[in-house]
Amino acid sequence: MSARNAAPPSDKFALDKPTLCGTITEARYTARERREARAETPQLWVVRKLMVVVTLGIMVYTGYVYAGRFVVRLIDGGRRGEGIGLLVPWCFLYVWMLWAYVKVVITPPGTANDYVEKTPQPLFPRAQLEAHQADQDLYLYGGRSAALEDIEAGRIGGPAYEHIQGSTFAPHPDVPAGPPAAHNGVTREIQLPENGYKPALPPPPPPPTRRKSSWGSGKKAESSDKRVPRGRFPPTTAPLLPPHRWCKRCSIVKPYRAHHCRICGTCILKFDHHCPWIGQCVGARNHKFFLNFALATFIFTTFTFASLLSFNASSVMTRGGEDVDPQEVVVIALAGLFALFTSSLGVAHTRMVLLSQTTVESLGVQRMRERERAALEAAGVACWNVGAKRRAFEAYDEEWGSPNTEGNVWWAGSARAGWEDVMGKSVLGWVLPIGAPLGDGLHYQPNPRFDADGRSRRRSEWPVELR
Ligand SMILES: [Zn+2]
Ligand SMILES: [Zn+2]
Repeated sequence: MSARNAAPPSDKFALDKPTLCGTITEARYTARERREARAETPQLWVVRKLMVVVTLGIMVYTGYVYAGRFVVRLIDGGRRGEGIGLLVPWCFLYVWMLWAYVKVVITPPGTANDYVEKTPQPLFPRAQLEAHQADQDLYLYGGRSAALEDIEAGRIGGPAYEHIQGSTFAPHPDVPAGPPAAHNGVTREIQLPENGYKPALPPPPPPPTRRKSSWGSGKKAESSDKRVPRGRFPPTTAPLLPPHRWCKRCSIVKPYRAHHCRICGTCILKFDHHCPWIGQCVGARNHKFFLNFALATFIFTTFTFASLLSFNASSVMTRGGEDVDPQEVVVIALAGLFALFTSSLGVAHTRMVLLSQTTVESLGVQRMRERERAALEAAGVACWNVGAKRRAFEAYDEEWGSPNTEGNVWWAGSARAGWEDVMGKSVLGWVLPIGAPLGDGLHYQPNPRFDADGRSRRRSEWPVELR
């Protein structure tokens, strides 16, 4: 049973007197905790694995219709050569897909709880606790409450640095002052430059009121261009500090990039997403096979779809469709559907892997962009002024690094490195479900452009050779 030891929100944020904002915050927490309680119970093992049976059923049915009906019909109709010519490559693709499917279903994604000891909840440094409260006030007054969930999840979108003016973070008692820190549950391997970095604290942004702006009418924006409205507020919550990686359900400090899956009821290494089709999570250890499976399924379903459709279409043309098999029509529809599904899935995952992102992290980037868009619109940039927004994003990226590369705390440094971390070094293993990923799901080197606890830094504060 997972430990329900979360302190009530009023304790967590030490609200002394009832304020409007405090009341709203508390109501928000109560609603969320109620929501969470509903989603707290992991799905039954049998229910989770049911989809595997369904998926295998669809595969077997497809096999029966293609080999047992379509090809037999061709051979019986005196088109033996064509039947065999289709059946042989189809069998190879079928075996490839089944093999990849079995591999991704039987390979566990990696469970964080197997590697990390249970510990009591690490505490926030006092300064951070206050920053949290200040930030919530900001977001509530500014109507940007979406950040609240991010703060809780320890993802992008912590308190804005504008609101911790004059305060620097007290070192966390659990974290030794000097590197290498060992608060990942595993030893941190990277040594960050000791350049006496202190967060730069610019003045707070103007309140988000709508006003006419002369900005956004042509010239290329530069990072120092005062006409670019502020829109990017990188988190200062130090996402890599243990309090931000604490899983209250498992009572562990999650390794970097691990997340809790509520359906499985456990913390998954380099959690990507929970995939109902395979009845388990996609994580550090099986992400590779997931991509192998997506590729195999895409090619298999495209082949099945194209061959069945072309033969049935020509039958309709020549004989008016009197010998069209309805079961083949069902498989044409299924194959078409899965070809579309796996192609978009494959493209999206390939992109994310090349950018050293998981689905969770990629969503964080998308939400950051949405907030930036909203901030720009609040500053008077018309929502249809795509060019102006693009220039603003370029200016932000110039200042902080693109959130997909330099500004991504887990960027492996190159697309190739990101790819090999998931897919391994062997080219054959990129296609067939063999081999293993390079990454073990436990050790990740934070991007040295970030500070030791994962806070974004400006380009001017990066190590000189990386600017
Ligand atoms: Zn957990
Ligand atoms: Zn799961």
